[in-house]
Amino acid sequence: MLKGKTALVTGSTSGIGLGIAKALAAQGANIVLNGFGDADGPKAEITALGVKVVYHGADMSQPAAIEDMMKFAAAEFGQVDILVNNAGIQHVARIENFPAEKWDAIIAINLSSAFHATRLVLPSMLAANQGKGWGRIINLASVHGLVGSAEKSAYVAAKHGIVGLTKVTALENATTGVTCNAICPGWVLTPLVQQQVDARALAGGISNEAATQQLLGEKEPSMQFTTPEELGALAVFFCSPAGNNIRGVAWNMDGGWTAQ
Ligand code: NAD
Repeated sequence: MLKGKTALVTGSTSGIGLGIAKALAAQGANIVLNGFGDADGPKAEITALGVKVVYHGADMSQPAAIEDMMKFAAAEFGQVDILVNNAGIQHVARIENFPAEKWDAIIAINLSSAFHATRLVLPSMLAANQGKGWGRIINLASVHGLVGSAEKSAYVAAKHGIVGLTKVTALENATTGVTCNAICPGWVLTPLVQQQVDARALAGGISNEAATQQLLGEKEPSMQFTTPEELGALAVFFCSPAGNNIRGVAWNMDGGWTAQ
């Protein structure tokens, strides 16, 4: 379905970003990977799906690095058709104890990076399809783009911000073939959440299993994690023809978290 298209997924060396990159590649999209840590493993895994994969290690907190990555992607593939703004970090502390540099980093990586990547990718998306425009911008928000949780001020602010950015991006391009939507997962067992499980186990002197049950039990009625594969399938749906007129939604996949 996506053969001949190019998808750039930020923060795709791990977790949800990697799951989404694999799902888009399975539909035939070439992939621009980004993120820290091992890139060779993910690159090999996705190449095995029969698509072309390149990697750029832009630090998403740096607008100049994002510009460089966008130029690199255009030089490799002509243009980016699908942009998934996924890179993100977390820090947990009460506001009065929240390190100011952590606030700045979370706002830069979880929110401002999406603005920069979006502003850089839009001109070529709008020019695609003989000037009628074609593009998909998918922002990885969170249930924390819809509701708050204590001790996550920067994360919740950034995620509410990205839901707002999603709506404005969708509206500004509403008469074109470029759509923008947000995905709002509940708990997904990735390294980002494993750190929170570990901290909980340590603080409570309880097992990893007990800490996991506690974490899910507080917020997620289904008592199960959403998987990167399920999130990948939703991203593919947004890219399908059925997604042509889905514009500006914040689509939760959260086991009932925000239904309460
Ligand atoms: P993860 O830690 O597994 O992956 C994060 C990715 O972002 C990694 O590839 C990492 O290298 C990359 N990254 C971090 N800082 C970066 C930077 N400065 N520049 C470039 N890349 C950087 O986390 P995840 O759980 O897969 O999270 C992915 C996204 O999904 C995040 O935006 C997160 O907020 C969101 N999310 C996660 C959950 C969850 O439960 N895991 C729930 C809701 C939303």
